[in-house]
Amino acid sequence: MAERTDELARDATWCEEEREGDCREIRQTAATTAVTVRHNFESAHRLPQLGGKCHNLHGHSWWVEATVAGEAGADGIVVEFHDLKSYLREWIDENLDHGAMLGSEDELVPALNAANSKVFVFGKADPSFGLSWPTVENVAELLSRVTAGYLQSRGWPGVRVSRVVVRETHVNAAEVSW
Ligand SMILES: [Zn+2]
Repeated sequence: MAERTDELARDATWCEEEREGDCREIRQTAATTAVTVRHNFESAHRLPQLGGKCHNLHGHSWWVEATVAGEAGADGIVVEFHDLKSYLREWIDENLDHGAMLGSEDELVPALNAANSKVFVFGKADPSFGLSWPTVENVAELLSRVTAGYLQSRGWPGVRVSRVVVRETHVNAAEVSW
């Protein structure tokens, strides 16, 4: 499977079929095309359950890559690129950007809520159920659910989330893939 960002790239299974003497027909079958959208956001988090320096409230400039895959339709596209990109960016900006991501058991949650400060509570806010703490792994899982939910709402046939990568620093990243 190949990936596409801004340019189309396709990986295909090719089969050649001999026809009438020297004439050959090349057919493409069962191609899967992956499209990737990227976004970044600024957000604080902390992981008090891990101890060490992750206990402290600190910020990262997070980078997200969400890849969806399917078979391009007759119109030559897998998904409406603009729609998918807009949805993900708006969801991230509204819910995570310039806020704090905290675990549902974090004692800072009531204080931030009382101060009317933006906070996304892992394990409580939709669709983070079962994800108790804002680790980079759980941020990747969260955004894969957001992407999958949008694909489901649009009903693009055969299109699925194939990979979500989240980077919290240049050296720390998590990837969820199927
Ligand atoms: Zn961190």
